[in-house]
Amino acid sequence: MGLTPMMLQYFEIKERYKDCIVFFRLGDFYEMFFDDAKTASKELELVLTGRDCGLEERAPMCGIPFHASANYISRLVQKGYKVAICEQVQDPSEAKGIVKRDVIKVITPGTYIDPSNDECSNTYLMSITESDGEFGLAISDISTGEFKTTSFKESINTLEDEIAKISPKEIIVFNEISDYLNKSLESLSGILISKKDYKANDIKIESMFENYKETDISSLSNSKISAIKLLLSYIKDTQKCNLSNINFLDVYEIINFMTIDSSSRRNLELTENIHEKTKKGSLLWVLDNTSTTMGGRALRKWIEEPLISKDEIDDRLNGVDELYKNISLNEDIRASLKDIYDIERIVGKIANGSVNAKDLISLKNSLTKVPAIKNFISSTTSTILKKYYDNLDPLLELTSLLEKSIKDDPSISLKEGNIIKDTYSKDIDELRIAKTNGKEWIASLENSERDITGIKSLKVGYNKVFGYYIEIRKANYDSIPEGRYIRKQTLSNSERYITQELKEMEDKILGAEEKLINLEYKLFLEIRCIVEKHIPKLKNTARTLSNIDVLSTLAKVALENNYVKPTLNSDGIINIVDGRHPVVEKVIGLGEFISNDSLLNRNNDRLLLITGPNMAGKSTYMRQVALITLMAQIGSFVPAKAANISLCDKIFTRIGASDDLAGGKSTFMVEMWEVSNILNNATSKSLVLLDEVGRGTSTYDGLSIAWAVIEYISKNKDLQCNTLFATHYHELTKLEGQIEGVKNYSVAVKEMNDSIIFLRKIIEGGADQSYGIEVAKLAGLPEAVINRAKDILNNLENVDQNNLNTNKELFEKEIIDSPKSQTPDIQMDFESLEKENLLNEILNINILELTPMSAMNELYSLINKVKALK
Ligand code: ATP
Repeated sequence: MGLTPMMLQYFEIKERYKDCIVFFRLGDFYEMFFDDAKTASKELELVLTGRDCGLEERAPMCGIPFHASANYISRLVQKGYKVAICEQVQDPSEAKGIVKRDVIKVITPGTYIDPSNDECSNTYLMSITESDGEFGLAISDISTGEFKTTSFKESINTLEDEIAKISPKEIIVFNEISDYLNKSLESLSGILISKKDYKANDIKIESMFENYKETDISSLSNSKISAIKLLLSYIKDTQKCNLSNINFLDVYEIINFMTIDSSSRRNLELTENIHEKTKKGSLLWVLDNTSTTMGGRALRKWIEEPLISKDEIDDRLNGVDELYKNISLNEDIRASLKDIYDIERIVGKIANGSVNAKDLISLKNSLTKVPAIKNFISSTTSTILKKYYDNLDPLLELTSLLEKSIKDDPSISLKEGNIIKDTYSKDIDELRIAKTNGKEWIASLENSERDITGIKSLKVGYNKVFGYYIEIRKANYDSIPEGRYIRKQTLSNSERYITQELKEMEDKILGAEEKLINLEYKLFLEIRCIVEKHIPKLKNTARTLSNIDVLSTLAKVALENNYVKPTLNSDGIINIVDGRHPVVEKVIGLGEFISNDSLLNRNNDRLLLITGPNMAGKSTYMRQVALITLMAQIGSFVPAKAANISLCDKIFTRIGASDDLAGGKSTFMVEMWEVSNILNNATSKSLVLLDEVGRGTSTYDGLSIAWAVIEYISKNKDLQCNTLFATHYHELTKLEGQIEGVKNYSVAVKEMNDSIIFLRKIIEGGADQSYGIEVAKLAGLPEAVINRAKDILNNLENVDQNNLNTNKELFEKEIIDSPKSQTPDIQMDFESLEKENLLNEILNINILELTPMSAMNELYSLINKVKALK
C-alpha cells in the first residue's frame, strides 16, 4: 500500500513547512494531519479523528471550518506556533488528477495582524545578525510598514536592552549563530526565535526604499545590510505578497537616544506596571490621552526612546508649549483627530491586498479631516508644528477619487457588488438600470397576472434553485387559463409556474447582477491600484498626524495635570521645585500628593543619600526624579512648579528585589549583577538610582558594599554622576563631609504617642531612627509580637556594642540576658542549633538538580553561613 495522491501532496508541502502547523484546505475545512493534528487538537480542544491515507494506520486528523479559521489561527499564533495556510491554487476544471495546492501565507507571532488589536502597540518582527564584530538589527511592523535598522558593537548587554525596548514578538537569526548569541536568545521568554538563511541574490534592497537608493544602501554597514536582507527575506517567505508599504528605511543609532536598560525600564514602569504587565499604573497610562490609534503608538515610542539632543527636545517642548497656551486651537485639532482612523494599518492592508471598500471609506473620511488640521496649524510659529504643516499632505485628488467612486456604506465583501457609487461608471449605471427595470417589471407582474387570471392569492416569488416563479394555491387550479403557465414545482398546497417572458426577464436580471458584481470588483481593484501608488505620501501624512496627536496630547495632559515646561541644561544640574510622581499622584488623586524639591549638581551635591523609615516615600521620591528627567527628554511638560533638568545619556535603577531564580540567580546575585552593570556602564552624564543596595546579605557585608559603591561613584572621575541612594544603613550618613559630593537627606516623620505619621517631606540631614517596629505596627502585626520586638530592641541598644562584633553575638547576648526569653526554642543552645541546621541543609542538597550558577549561589550562601558561625 502506498500513500494516496492527496497525502503525497500533503507530505511534499509539509516537508517545506516543517516548523509550521499546516492548515490543508479540503472543501470547506482546513484539515491538519499527523503531529500537527495532535498538537492542534490539544491546543484548540478539537476532536482528534483519523483519515485513510493509503497506509495501514489511519492518519491522525483534526479540522476546523474555513470560515471560522481566524479565531483558531489567532489562538495558535498567540501560543507561539506558526500556521501555514495551504489552499487550492489551480482551477479544478483545469486540473489533471489532483488539484494543485500550495501555501499562500505563513502566519507567525511576529507577522500576525490581529484585527481586534486596538491596544496602541506595534507587533514587531526583528532580525539579528553578527558581522565584523557588530550586531546588526532590522525591525519591522508589517501591519504599518515601519522598517528600521541599527547596528552596534557586539555586546550582549546592549542587545538585550534593545530587545527589551523593542519588545518583538519574533526574532529571526541565521541558522548558524555564535554560542553566546544563542545562549542569550534562549534566555528570552515569550519571544519566538526563528532560524533561516537566504540566498544573497534573492533579496534586492537597492530599489525598495524611496529614501535609501543604491548608493545610500552601500554606505550601510555589513551587519545592517545582512539584517535588512534577512528580515525582508523572512517577510517575503511568509507573506508571499508585494511589500509596497515597506518603502521607507529608518536608520537609527542607539547612542542618539537615552539608554535605559531592561531592568530600569521595568522598574520605572514606563509602558506597563511591574506586576500585572498591563498599561494601568504606567507612565504611558498617565500620558496617553491620544485621539488616534496611530498617535497612541507614537506616544509609546516617544516614551520608550527619550532623546538626548537638546535641540530636538526643545523643538518638541516648544510645540507642546504652543498648543498648551492655545487651548481652543488644541481642542479643535483634537476634535478633528478623533475622526481619523488608523491610516497606517489601512495602508498595510492596501499593500497586502486585504483592503475592502469599507477601509477605503475610512481612509477617505480620515483624509477629509486633514485640510482642517492643516489649516489649524497654519498659523503656528514653533519649528516643529511648521514642519508638520509642510509634511501634511491632504491628498486631495485621492480623496476626491474615493469620494466619487466608493459608496458611503459599501458591502464588506468585494464579491457582492454594492461598492461603486452611481455616476462613477456608465457601464455600472446601465447594468443597475437593467436590474432595477427588471425588478420593477417583476413587481408589476403580480398585479397584471392577478387581473388576467382573476386569482387574488396569486403570488410572484423567488428562490435560489428555481429562480422567479408564479405561485397558485390548489383551490384556484381551475381558474388557470389553458396553456398560460409552465409548471415548475409542486408543493403540498400549491403549484409553482413560470412563463417564457418571466424566464427571459430573470436571465436579464441575473445576468445584469452577475455582470455588475464582476464589474464593481474590477473597478475596485483599479481604484485600489491607484491608492497603492499613493502609499509613500499616505504613510508620510499618517506619521505626521500621529506626531501632531502626541504633541497635542502632551499639551492637554500638561494642562489637566498641572505640569510645567522644563528647561534643559548640560551643566549637570537637576533643580526641581515642588516635583511630584506623575503616576502616584494620579492614583491617590490630584492635590493629595506631597510635592518635594530636588537639587542635584554633578559638580558638588551629586549623591543624595536618602534615609528614612520604610513606607516614608524614599522610592517614590527617587523614581519621581527619574521620571521627571525622562518626561523632559521625551518633550513632555513635567509634574512640578519649575524644573531645570540636566540632559542625561542613561538612566539606571537598582530598585526592589527582582528574583530571577528561574534564571539561576539568587536575589542577592541579581542585586549585585545590576549594581555591577551600573558601575561598569554609567557615565558622568547618567542618572543613577540605587535603592537599599546591600540589603540582600548580612548587615555588615551589605553596609560595606553600599559604602564602597558610594565611594566608587563619587570618587571615580569617569562616573561622578547624579545619584540618588536610599538606604536603611544610618551609618552611611557619616559619609557626608567625608566623601566629596555626598549630601544627606531624609524623609520626615512625626512621632505621635506610640506611633508615627508620614509627612512625605524630604528634608536636609540624615535620619537617625528606622521606626521599623512602628511601621510593622501600622501593618497590623499582633501586639504581642510588637511588644516583644520592642523589648529585644531595647536590650540590643543597651548592649555595649564596642565589645560585640557580630549580629550573632548581639543576639546571643539578648537571649542570655532577656528575662522574657523563656520559650523552649530560644532556650536551646543557639550555636549548636545553627550548626545542626547547616549540616541538614548540606545533606539535603541534591547535586543533580543544581545548575552551575545555582551551585555557585548555594556555595556562596553556605560559606556565608559558616563565616557567621565562626
Ligand atoms: P520602603 O523603604 O519600605 O521601600 P519607601 O520609603 O521607599 O519604603 P515608598 O514605597 O516610596 O516608601 O512609598 C510608600 C507609599 O507612600 C507609596 O506607595 C505612596 O502611596 C505613598 N507616598 C510616597 N510618597 C508620597 C508623597 N510624596 N505624597 C503622598 N504619598 C506618598
